[in-house]
Order: sequence, then C-alpha cells, then structure tokens
Amino acid sequence: MGQGGLFPYPEIRPAQREMMRAIRETVDSGGHLVIEGPTGMGKTVALLCGVLESPRAEELRVLYCCRTHKQMDRVIEELKTMKVDLPALSMRGKREMCLNRLMRFTSSTSEATYVCSVLKRKGKCEFFENLQGKEASKLLEEFSSRPVLAEEILSACRENGFCPYEVARELLSGAKVVAASYIYILDPSIRDNFLRGLEGGLEDFVLIFDEAHNVPTVASELASDRLTSASISQAAREAKEMGEEKLSGNLEGWLDSLEGLAVQLFGGGEGEKIVRGEEVLKGLKNPAGCAEKAGKVGDEVILERIEEGRAPRSHLRHLSGFLRAWMETCGREDYLHLLSSRGEAEGKVLALELSALDPRITTGCMLRCHSSISMSGTLAPLEAYRDLVGLPRDTRLLELPSPFPPENVLCLVTEGVTTKEEFRIPPMYEKITEKLVEICDATPANVGVFTASYEVLEGVLKAGMREKIEKPVFVETPQMSSAENDELIRAFKSSARRGGAVLLGVMGGRNSEGGDFPGDEMNSVALVGIPYAPPDARTEAAIQYYEKQFQGRGKFYAYYLPAHRRMCQAAGRAHRLVTDRAAVIFLDRRVLTRFVARSLPSWMRRLERVPDKRGMLRKRLEEFFKRTPADPHPSSAAPSQTALGSAGSPRG
Ligand code: SF4
Repeated sequence: MGQGGLFPYPEIRPAQREMMRAIRETVDSGGHLVIEGPTGMGKTVALLCGVLESPRAEELRVLYCCRTHKQMDRVIEELKTMKVDLPALSMRGKREMCLNRLMRFTSSTSEATYVCSVLKRKGKCEFFENLQGKEASKLLEEFSSRPVLAEEILSACRENGFCPYEVARELLSGAKVVAASYIYILDPSIRDNFLRGLEGGLEDFVLIFDEAHNVPTVASELASDRLTSASISQAAREAKEMGEEKLSGNLEGWLDSLEGLAVQLFGGGEGEKIVRGEEVLKGLKNPAGCAEKAGKVGDEVILERIEEGRAPRSHLRHLSGFLRAWMETCGREDYLHLLSSRGEAEGKVLALELSALDPRITTGCMLRCHSSISMSGTLAPLEAYRDLVGLPRDTRLLELPSPFPPENVLCLVTEGVTTKEEFRIPPMYEKITEKLVEICDATPANVGVFTASYEVLEGVLKAGMREKIEKPVFVETPQMSSAENDELIRAFKSSARRGGAVLLGVMGGRNSEGGDFPGDEMNSVALVGIPYAPPDARTEAAIQYYEKQFQGRGKFYAYYLPAHRRMCQAAGRAHRLVTDRAAVIFLDRRVLTRFVARSLPSWMRRLERVPDKRGMLRKRLEEFFKRTPADPHPSSAAPSQTALGSAGSPRG
C-alpha cells in the first residue's frame, strides 16, 4: 500500500498528519507509541492509515482492541470508507456470537468455552454441524476478502443456521485487521485460544489499544477474582448431588472456618481486611487436591446438565479455578488477598477476593508484539501510562495539538469550594449548589453535573439543587438498569431543544465514562470535587506496592492518578466533535494546583480562576455563550470529515 493514498477525506488535519507520521515511524522501527489526542479529531482513520501505509504494512497484521462494540464497528466502517478490499472483521465475545440456547446460561467466558467444546464434541450443536455444507464455504468466501462487521456475520449466520462464532474464527486466520475486545488479548485464559485462531504469533501484529486509559484497570480486573460464601455453599451442594460426600464435607468445613475467621476479624459486624492467603486455607483439607477434584466434578456436572438440557453451570468449576489462583498467588506482593463481610444475620455474605495490584501481570504481552500503539483523550501524564503497563523507557510519547479553536473551550475553576473529606458539611453543599444554579442559568441548553461520589450527589440534592434549578434535573442512580438509564439519557438529550435540562451523575459512572453529548446535548459540564478513593487498607497496600515499584511516584500512580482520570473523562463529555463549543467548570479549588492540572489533557490546561464571589461564574459563562462559535475548518474542504460523521463523529 502506497503512502498517502488511503486517507478517504478531502483534507488531512495537522494533528492527523502528525499522528500518521509518528505511527509510520513507530511501525517501521518496531517500537511502541503512546498518544493523547482529544475525541472527535479523527484518530481511528488516522491510525489505520498510519499503520496500513507504513513501509512494513505488507508483512504485518493489525489487532485493534477496543472496549465497546460501537468502537470495534467504527474500525470496520472506517476501512469501508477507505475503500480498501482487505480482509478485516469486528469480533464479539463467544456468548454474544453463539446461537445455541444453552450457552445463555453460562456465567463466564471460560465456562462458555468449555460448554461449547462439549457441545461440539458430542454433536449437540446443530449450528456447528451445519458448517460442513457447501453453503458455509460460500459464505466464508464472500466474507474473506473485505471488511465485515460482526453484525453482518451474525445476521448471515442466523439466516443460514451457521455458528457465527466459528465463522468469525475461520475468518480470523486470513484477516489483515481484527477489531476485538481488550479481553481477547489481556485475559490469559482466552488469549492463547484466540492467538491459535489468528494463526500467527504476536510478533506479526501491530497491537492497538483504543481508549487506552482503561487498559491498566481492565488488565488488573482480568487477573482478579472473587468467591462468595453463597458460591462455596452451592459448590458443596453440587458435590453432594454428585455423590461426592467427602468433597462436600470438606467445603462445608471450610465455610465454617471462614465464618469463624470473619467473627475474629469483624466481631460479627461488617468490614474488609487483608488476610494472609495461607491463613484462609487452613480450614480446608488438602487445598490442591480439593481444587483438582472440584474441577473434575464440576466438568461432570456440566456434562450431566447438557445431557438433561439444563443450564450448564457449575459452582465447583469456578471454585476450582479460584482456589488454584489463590494458592498460586499466596505470598506474592503483586496480589492482595481479602476477606469481607457484608449484611447481617441470615443475609450475611462473606467474600474472598483476589485482587491484582499490577496491570503488568497481563499487559506484558504488549512487548511480544511487533509494535504497540495506545491512544486516548485522557492519558496525561503519558510516562505514567507507559510505566503502569510496562512499556520500555524509549517508548515514544506524543501529545497531539488540540483540534478545538481556543474560543470554543472555556475551562473554569471556582475558588471557595471543595469536596475534601473534612469539608463535606451542609454549608459547603449549599455553596456548591449556589454555584451550580449560576452555571445552569447561564448555559443556553443542557448541563452535565458529575460529582465525586454518590455521597456528594446526595449532598447537593439535600441542599435543594433540584428545587433551586429551573431546568428539569435527571438523576442517575446505581440501581438503574441499562434500559432505564438509556431512557433517562434519551429524555435528557431531547430536552436540549426545549430550553435544556441537567443530568446529575457521578464521575466513574456509566454516563461520565461512556456518554457522548455533542452540540447542545451538553453545553456545560460541571465537575463537583475530585473522586479520590476512601483511604482504606486496600488503597494503602496499593500505594505501598506502587511505591516499591516506582520510587517517588507510588502514591501518584496508585491513588491520585486514577481519580484524576475519572475526572478528566467526565470533563470531556461535552467536547465530542471538533465543532463543539462548551464550558468545563471544576468546582474544587484543588484543580488549580500543578499536581492536579498536569493530569488534565493539554486542551483543558488553560484554566481560568473564578473568584469566590456571587454572580462571577454566571457572568463569565454568559460572556462565553454570547460569542459566536469559532469555525474549526476555515478552509472549504475540511468540514466534510465532520459531516461524514466518521473522523468527526463522537469518540472517533
Ligand atoms: S459451536 Fe457455536 S453455536 Fe455451537 S455452542 Fe459453540 S459457539 Fe455456540
């Protein structure tokens, strides 16, 4: 593929050009690249062009890892816009691509993989059997030479009765570009199987992590696990039903000993404590043998249930995997072993948790790839991301210039307010609420208000926020189902045409991390406080571990940075297109310190201080919204990228 020929839009923006150059050089040299560039600047298309136009493009393949289905599909849609006839596909998880009714009842990817293998081996999956015919070969041939969306595979397979997952897996081996979830590459229990499907070693791949600010957290979560007292109890019952009295008795005895330990630690109340891994296993006879036996009996449970057409689930199987991981990590510094007790009397639930502290446990695979490219709108400071995922010191770090004209971004920090623990009292919430009223009054349409926690959210509601603001207030709650939340967001967005509304949620929540609110859907976004974690034993242990690993930066990496990232994610909800003009208001004076400000994306760093004086915030916002928005595309050709909703679309 020749250089410069793939870009499908009339004009390459300066930031895109810089990005493409850096990518070409990185891929050519087999290095690693970390990029911060705001959403809406057209990162996906620039990234694809950069890699596919590199001099080594012919010999390499691309594994593009994202978090959401929408992001994965965007990769394929951009390839279609580029009009390149190369084999590419977006993947979904096994459970999402499976047509077999039984798979709906599996509770984890590892269980689903096992159930699927049994169904295939026993000839009990018609969708797999149907793949033997000529029709399936025809479909594969049709899909193997062009970019294909997961939904196209799903719908063609549904129509023909073929297994969509197996079809996608067949296509993997010849695909030049694969867009898949992070877990395919970060979860060690899935990675090997996935790589076998790709028919190539990681050294043949350019690995891309989109929205890479999520990678450290997802990587640690994938190496962690949890086992509750209810699950141990059900595993014991399962063993009994299978005639395994000894195993059942051993598990019941273990549960008694855990309850005894919980009484010692929490005196019958609630709490969470770090425990010694070996201490917890004391009440279990022969833990290694028990794990092995539980695994074998768990497999038999699944086989039996498949034969009977029942939900193929096994608590013993999960317990077996958990015990193995718990034993393997005893004494390791990079894991925490925790015991918690929640609820009272009959409703009491104990939980054992294995918590991985270090993302490098799973991100080490990045070093095995030919090159890796990580990009996000919120990665500052870039060295921190490089260190946390274990990339080498010579990794190239690139902060792209802002695509937003300075006149379209207003970043304010108000003095006189904070959500620092000792200031969380009614007078502070009243003052914060007064400032929120000024913001909502001065904003032409919609406002997003994201608080540091649900405690702070309750604080502003109790201070009368809902009554004092003239616009309707939509409140996100942790109990809401996805459908309820979707309905809330739809109503909030549609209010933009009727004078505006307020969305009240928390930083780190589903709307502050994953919501797109371009144009009038959010003219102002207010951040109430900084979401620092409560100072508990778990946080303290993480700080100590990180301090040992990254001398002098431990507390920043383990404690401050995750909170700053959540705040920046929320702050970026209103600037989704290069044409967006919006105000970002930080309601916490601590944001003015250099320490916090250096974690802000470069386009948010022009902070303006607003004195703690009634009416000042309102006045400054009214001035800003009175001015005509600046055109980010002074040339005639440029707007087409935005209009196409591709490079200029939200989250691109
Ligand atoms: S072969 Fe396909 S359809 Fe059958 S169980 Fe496995 S994933 Fe599901």
